[in-house]
Amino acid sequence: MSLSAIGGRTAKRAFREADRPPAPKHSNSMRYAYHPDYDLPLPPAHPFPMAKYPLLYERLVARGWLRPEDRIEPAEAAPEDLARVHTAAYLARLESGTLDAAEVRRIGVPWSARLWRRSRLAAQGTLEAARAALEDGLAGNLAGGTHHAFADHGEGFCVLNDVAISIRRLQHDRLARRALVVDLDVHQGNGTAAIFADDPDVYTFSMHGERNYPARKMRSTLDVGLEDAVGDEKYLELLRQHLGRALAESSPDVVFYLAGVDPVAGDRYGRLALSEAGLREREREVLGACRDRPLVVTIAGGYASTPERTADLHAVVFEEACRGAFARPLQRDDAVPLPEAAAAAVEPASGTL
Ligand SMILES: [Zn+2]
Repeated sequence: MSLSAIGGRTAKRAFREADRPPAPKHSNSMRYAYHPDYDLPLPPAHPFPMAKYPLLYERLVARGWLRPEDRIEPAEAAPEDLARVHTAAYLARLESGTLDAAEVRRIGVPWSARLWRRSRLAAQGTLEAARAALEDGLAGNLAGGTHHAFADHGEGFCVLNDVAISIRRLQHDRLARRALVVDLDVHQGNGTAAIFADDPDVYTFSMHGERNYPARKMRSTLDVGLEDAVGDEKYLELLRQHLGRALAESSPDVVFYLAGVDPVAGDRYGRLALSEAGLREREREVLGACRDRPLVVTIAGGYASTPERTADLHAVVFEEACRGAFARPLQRDDAVPLPEAAAAAVEPASGTL
């Protein structure tokens, strides 16, 4: 996609003034989508850590970062929303369970009615979070970021492209026109890049391991390919440089953040060497850079040594999002300060790296 193709500033300004909600008041909480059926039983030796979803939810609530009353429980995404992104033939094979063996292998998770339902719940979770972010400034889905899903097939543990489905629905409803996808999962967002390849209103920024999966990269609006074993300093320097450029060039009505934690050292599929402090700094960079835009957080990939460790790493972006410095104003009157446990955790952890 040509960067110079992005235009229409005058039209956009009028659009935004008419459609963006007024700036709300301050609070330290955020709305988030979560459904218990994000989790799904897989064969015992399967490499995908499904348990990370309930573990993430339980940790964030138990530690006082997220409040149970701010949870949005998604239904299954509507067929017409899926059909704005995915082909009718692919959706029909998913619905009827008639993917062929090669298609199932490419996805990497066995088809089941529960997988199909789970995929639609998670896609709707991102859409619900996007709607909440347009109202509150910031919201998240405790799943999503399934960026390897193309219009006509899934791969790399991804069945449906939740971010693409959400962007198309927001555009359809005229809630947003221009979107920026900030994809920091260590694997290139190939499905998202392909889906939006010809759409100048959607800017796709992917920073990923150049030698990592997928072997054949698609062309995002802005790709930053990293050598193996890149650590905090280089990673954060490149992020600052390119995120600023992506924001300036896209002028988005909404930003979707794929906060994959697979760039962290020790990840089974990552090959990079970000420290946990570096990850925290990364999240602060993104949250800070996007603080004046509606921001939708999705978790994307993470394959640490245990599902518990993976969940702890995924929790970091939500912890940072709920800190005072990045918390977005909520318009609701019931917004309350962080509980004591979470407030205490803010102090020692701030200023790391
Ligand atoms: Zn990944």
